[in-house]
Amino acid sequence: MKDILISGIAADGYLRVIGAETTQLVEDARLTHNTSATATAALGRMLTGTVLMAKEMKNETDKLTIQLKGKGPIGGMATVCRIRTKNGAAGALDKVFVKGYADHPHADLPTRESDGKLDVGGLVGKGFMNVMMDLGLKEPYSGSVPLHSGEIAEDFSYYYLMSKQVPAAVSLGVLIGQELNVVKAGGFMVQLLPGAPDKLIDDIERSISYMPSVTTLLNAGATIENILEDITRGYSLDIADRVECVYQCDCSKERMEEALLSIGKDEIKKILEEDHGAELCCHFCNKKYKFSEEEIRGLTD
Ligand SMILES: [Zn+2]
Repeated sequence: MKDILISGIAADGYLRVIGAETTQLVEDARLTHNTSATATAALGRMLTGTVLMAKEMKNETDKLTIQLKGKGPIGGMATVCRIRTKNGAAGALDKVFVKGYADHPHADLPTRESDGKLDVGGLVGKGFMNVMMDLGLKEPYSGSVPLHSGEIAEDFSYYYLMSKQVPAAVSLGVLIGQELNVVKAGGFMVQLLPGAPDKLIDDIERSISYMPSVTTLLNAGATIENILEDITRGYSLDIADRVECVYQCDCSKERMEEALLSIGKDEIKKILEEDHGAELCCHFCNKKYKFSEEEIRGLTD
């Protein structure tokens, strides 16, 4: 089944709901980076959270970058998201492309003693989450918050509250199988819009707190749409968008040239003298790009 991002409005316009099933794209990330079980959960949650934010982009030139810089064994993580729109029309989301990497994808921790769950918070550690949204304006939007727990979902929720003043319930999950494969991955975000009545807030909080985890529900056969129906039970729900999302890198030799040039003339000179060429590896897909001495000279002259 293809991964899907859905979004809409519920409770007569007081709730914005976004949901995503990301099983395949998280599995693709795992296979790309050969992540440990806990790192698969950490990077998978982050990729899923990034996909949920894709709705904020309008144009194909827009770019969303999220960086998580923690002091835990996994080091930093980064995700980048781009969109395709229907016939290039602004806001008409057609497909979502996401990619990501972790500094130390093989790092792992024992499961937590308290509940036997993967210790994502421990693997990430204390630090910051940076969100950069380049919408083609003069200055890209950038927001940074301290990590709340390192469990990723709470960190996204904290980011929305602190940086955007939007109360948002965020749930992100990755279910890992016996073979360390991704069995299910997905998540949702419910944003409260201004003026939401107290009873609605109570009802939504209650249904989310009593609900099994997203991956438990997906694994039992529910769709992500069923899960949003469960959360908003008793209220209206209008799903306006359903789009495919995939793990895909858009690196190219041209982009790698830019990366090579960005290290500075002195460094490039050193590479030419010592190595007579360079090999650059894309962080996101591990594809290698070779540059001969002649090519590098051509770039710098
Ligand atoms: Zn790449």
